Amino acid sequence: MAEEKRLIYLDNAATTKTAEEVVEAMLPYFTEHYGNPSSVYRFSQKNKEAITKARETIAEALGAKTEEIYFTAGGTESDNWALKAAAEAYKDKGNHIITTKIEHHAILHTGQWLEKQGCEVTYLDVDENGTVKLEELKKAIRPTTILISVMFANNEIGTIQPIREIGQIAREHGILFHTDAVQAFGQLPMNVDELNIDMLSASAHKLNGPKGIGFLYIRKGVKIRNFIHGGAQERKRRAGTENVPGIIGFAAAVKRAMRTMEARTAKERELREYLIGRVLLEVPYTRLNGHRTNRLPNNANFSFQFIEGESLLIMLDTDGICGSSGSACTSGSLDPSHVLLAIGLPHEIAHGSLRLTLSEETTKEELDYVVESIKKIVERLRSMSPLYEDFMRRQ
Ligand SMILES: *Cc1c(COP(=O)(O)O)cnc(C)c1O
Repeated sequence: MAEEKRLIYLDNAATTKTAEEVVEAMLPYFTEHYGNPSSVYRFSQKNKEAITKARETIAEALGAKTEEIYFTAGGTESDNWALKAAAEAYKDKGNHIITTKIEHHAILHTGQWLEKQGCEVTYLDVDENGTVKLEELKKAIRPTTILISVMFANNEIGTIQPIREIGQIAREHGILFHTDAVQAFGQLPMNVDELNIDMLSASAHKLNGPKGIGFLYIRKGVKIRNFIHGGAQERKRRAGTENVPGIIGFAAAVKRAMRTMEARTAKERELREYLIGRVLLEVPYTRLNGHRTNRLPNNANFSFQFIEGESLLIMLDTDGICGSSGSACTSGSLDPSHVLLAIGLPHEIAHGSLRLTLSEETTKEELDYVVESIKKIVERLRSMSPLYEDFMRRQ
């Protein structure tokens, strides 16, 4: 009975638990400090100051200037803003954008929309580990290229990109460089100057902050159009009354993430290695997706031959385990993950994939339970698979 009630949350790439100290920081901004930061009286001006402080905290974490941080309603909005506004602002220079085949849909679908508006978009291939090939990036650059957008780390397979080198290439060619750092921010140290980043997207709910709040870092001097028209908020570039509790919560989450980063990620890395080691050793016909070592500290992504990832997920859920079959684009779609296809997996192997993303609260004991559950389920699913039966007969 006790076993049935347990919940093992290993889907921290989809979202994270809002940390206690983050909720505590936010609460007074609902009930006590509820003033509109745009109002003139001191009651509200205090909120304006609190927002500036939050902006400072976040800017500091990136090595950016306070006025270079623009709050948005999340990672998706930040990605949309970066691409659409750059295309608009630099249309006199050109209409070509370079990105990759493994981006989040917030980038990919925005790229496809921009193509309908007359932009040309190159989607770069990646190697078998999911790493962008720098030589191909260089070859893709045209005189009309205005923007390169490459994610910092992949949300499905965890692979970390050579961001500094990409930034360097963009800089040398006078091209803007945007990175979707939604998965990496709070997990990996980053400095926008050292990495030659001109724009960067992040989202609070991926680092134990609240949902619905993000930011876009825009380097001073980058010509970017206003995104939401209305009032004068966010230096007139993104209008709308500020999400004060969200902004305060985001800053609290960033403070916490920076303070705990070293110990937290060291622990996660160790547990991730334990999980990967056991699964690869104990479940036959299994592969690890993504770079073996140069990956997010908390990410493991496996493909199990001869099974359906969806069935595996449902059965894991019965055991109280929350995982993901790759991307969160469920909605009844049976298309395998575009990321797994981009690293060269055949459809049938991509279909049998499982992403497990750990948190600092994950324990070795939980992972032992998860490995046993995976072993049992994979064995059961394979025993029902004609393909597996065929394969074993031929061995
Ligand atoms: C989650 C995620 C997003 C979207 O962020 P939201 O705040 O949920 O809109 C974008 N890019 C990546 C890489 C993500 O993991």
